[in-house]
Amino acid sequence: MLLKRKDKVTKDYDVIIIGSGLAGMTAANRLAKNGRSVLLLEAHNKLGGFATWFYRANKKHVFDVSLHGFPFGMKKTCRKYWNKKIADHIVQLEDVRFINPQYSIQSKFTREDFTDKLVNEFKVELETVNDFYDFIENMNFYDDQSMTNRDLFEKFFPGRIDIVRFLMEPIVYANGSTLDDPAITYGIVFSNFMSRGVYTFKGGTDHLIKMMQEELLSNDVDIKKLSKIDKIVIENGIAKGVMLKDQYIKSKVVLSNANLRSTILNMAGENHFSPNFIEKTKAVRMNSSSCQVYMAIKPQMKIPYIGDLVFTSTHPTFDTNALLDFKITSRTFSVYYPEGRPYDEEPRYSIVSSTNSHFSDWNDLDEDTYKKEKQIMIDETIESLKKFIPDIIERIDYVDAATPRTVKKYVHHEGGSSFGTKFEGLEVSMNLHKQVKGLFHAGSVGIIMSGWLGAANYGVIQSNEIESYLYELEKNNVMDEGQIHV
Ligand SMILES: Cc1cc2nc3c(=O)[nH]c(=O)nc-3n(C[C@H](O)[C@H](O)[C@H](O)COP(=O)(O)OP(=O)(O)OC[C@H]3O[C@@H](n4cnc5c(N)ncnc54)[C@H](O)[C@@H]3O)c2cc1C
Repeated sequence: MLLKRKDKVTKDYDVIIIGSGLAGMTAANRLAKNGRSVLLLEAHNKLGGFATWFYRANKKHVFDVSLHGFPFGMKKTCRKYWNKKIADHIVQLEDVRFINPQYSIQSKFTREDFTDKLVNEFKVELETVNDFYDFIENMNFYDDQSMTNRDLFEKFFPGRIDIVRFLMEPIVYANGSTLDDPAITYGIVFSNFMSRGVYTFKGGTDHLIKMMQEELLSNDVDIKKLSKIDKIVIENGIAKGVMLKDQYIKSKVVLSNANLRSTILNMAGENHFSPNFIEKTKAVRMNSSSCQVYMAIKPQMKIPYIGDLVFTSTHPTFDTNALLDFKITSRTFSVYYPEGRPYDEEPRYSIVSSTNSHFSDWNDLDEDTYKKEKQIMIDETIESLKKFIPDIIERIDYVDAATPRTVKKYVHHEGGSSFGTKFEGLEVSMNLHKQVKGLFHAGSVGIIMSGWLGAANYGVIQSNEIESYLYELEKNNVMDEGQIHV
């Protein structure tokens, strides 16, 4: 049931889920399909979290926020844990381009195509390339995690900074990782993409979330939007429910899809955890944030085909600091053509430019400077697009921009983090329920579990944990009741 803002929640639930990002929604759907009663509470006025969109100019224009590309695995995840109709909308983006002072390359972003580029353009021995792929494809979460991305590239391509850029830059955009992050995170995410390429959702994020909401409701999930939760109720080390303003809603399990650190330190409260666990939580680093410039093309106008995803940079070499710098030198353009939105009444073209950023660079600005810098970012982005579409300025109908401040405002992530936490967040998230019984977390953490696929899959993993917990709870209750009757 879709509860209205003024509706009171009148029953207890097996599971309350705080937040409707892809992890929260996927867990909700799976648990509800298993016959669990589920309440999904979302702070915003729509579901999806970062998987979102917005309209401008009286709905003349629509912009997708994070629909730039995800691995093929999302199709399998949607087929298995959502439905076939959703999975059937997932289609490949065939044309990924890389344009920077070191090379200009067009690719399908698959192992086969990348192998061809590494051998024929970067002149690496085929055997070395195969060894590299075999190595990363066989990486295991339980392996030694001391190897960094830097070590990994040095092992296979020593001194080849051009290859490091080719292999690493798209993944930095996909999850904010750096050369100092554990190689396992790179190995898993890069192999996911390389298995079949980059995919998108035909119809746009609005269409996807509409279909997901319909599926949740058909499986009897109760949904309440505009419901920000500030407190998780915990008694004697066991999660008992949440406070929605002054209303106490009871449940056997609480699953938080909100930011990991805020879940533990603010919503649950430090006093419910061991000092060691709190220390580990406080040591969890957030991932970087991002800026975007949204450009809609005038109705009736077209733009030439320039590829689907265009990774551009004017920086001489690969440099993670430069990728995050306030003075932008690298932009990824996602180009949306009308074929990607077949359900829209009018054909629509739009371009979204994304750049990774430091939260503090934008957060510390006073209002006037913030507005000025936003305008500079927009102007410079349009200028850089002229290289691909010289008369772009005449074609643009509407422009808007988002900064790390916007990210924080809408999704409440500490530091406006676009990709959750660094690697250490995974352990904290996975062990939450060992500290407080019945309290679980699912959402972008540990680099591996972030992005559309990572988040959705983490929702599945945590729903399995919740099922085991509820099963044990029910088994013990039956045994307790048995004892009463003896
Ligand atoms: C600009 C940008 C571009 C991206 N591009 C891509 C891409 O191309 N491909 C890709 O795979 N990934 C991309 N990502 C990352 C991807 O979108 C996210 O990793 C993923 O969607 C996160 O899902 P999640 O389940 O962690 O939840 P989130 O999306 O973080 O959602 C959490 C939800 O919880 C709600 N919430 C938080 N606190 C509370 C509270 N106290 N009470 C109630 N509700 C609360 C929030 O409102 C939100 O709806 C991008 C991210 C950004 C920001």
